[in-house]
Amino acid sequence: MTSKKFKVKPISELRQDPVFGDWVLLAPLRGKRHEFKGRVKVKLPKNKCPFDNLSKFGNLPPVLVYPAKRGWFLQVIPNKYPAVGHGECSLIFKNGIYKSRLGVGFHEIVILRDHDRYLAQYSVLEIKKILMAYRERYLSLTKDKCVKYISIFHNHGKEAGSTVPHLHSQILALPIVPPDVSHSINGSRRYYHEYKKCIHCEMLRQEAKDKKRIIYENNDAIVVIPFASKVNFETRIFPKKHSAYFERMSDSELLSFADAMRFVFFGLYKKLKDPAFNFFIHTAPSGKNHDYNHYHWHMEILPKFETTGSVELGTGLSIISITPEEAAKILSK
Ligand SMILES: [Zn+2]
Ligand SMILES: [Zn+2]
Repeated sequence: MTSKKFKVKPISELRQDPVFGDWVLLAPLRGKRHEFKGRVKVKLPKNKCPFDNLSKFGNLPPVLVYPAKRGWFLQVIPNKYPAVGHGECSLIFKNGIYKSRLGVGFHEIVILRDHDRYLAQYSVLEIKKILMAYRERYLSLTKDKCVKYISIFHNHGKEAGSTVPHLHSQILALPIVPPDVSHSINGSRRYYHEYKKCIHCEMLRQEAKDKKRIIYENNDAIVVIPFASKVNFETRIFPKKHSAYFERMSDSELLSFADAMRFVFFGLYKKLKDPAFNFFIHTAPSGKNHDYNHYHWHMEILPKFETTGSVELGTGLSIISITPEEAAKILSK
């Protein structure tokens, strides 16, 4: 090989996620300026909105209302079109090599009162109330013997899968641990067995040293752009104190977490023209088995700028065009 060849700038870079072990292809669009397109705004008149006329649209009575007296800021209702329902969760049906079971569980919707308000317009205290509602419902649903995992997520914008523009999150209590979560938990367990350390705490330690991908921090929470981000501007919020269990957060820790969330939502809205995004909480499985101390719960926020390309669909290899370091610069400004 000639020395000249060594000087050639590489076209792309592959990075490996330390928890999942998955590779990500980082291929900057050279010479091309990035244009961030905001999400497509879907308008729904208030009188046609199922979350403004709860009983008229046949919704069931709420399971939680904040505040309990006079008016409401937030309520949690059972989803009218649930993905899982009641039934016997212990039955396993076998047919040759095939195995199935009933989709048993709970599917709830967390609805905010205001019809026309973005998440970026909510105050830290209001976001804290949303987190408190998540925690309260989590603690209630986790008592059910069928529930193995409680997934809390939020879809913002049509491109991120939201069908009703009115602000709402979802809580899905499942009889199994979903694949992405078990993938993440297995990765952290593997690392713990080998090094007797939490992979996420180690990552945060290195991020503090590298000083390239942390975009915000306060007393209890820290926001980073992952080294091997799966999508452009992927963002993760971690509690600084090691804990596997979201539901064990104290009120003051939730307040710090809400402050970090607000920083991210506001940044996406202001600096990236309000893209569609999904956020979800990754926490330890629920139930009596508390052998998940190696895990470190966190929130992942995944903006959606473009549809998945054919390479990604065919290979599972995520491709990003903005380096996590560049993304961190843009969002932390
Ligand atoms: Zn509405
Ligand atoms: Zn940790």
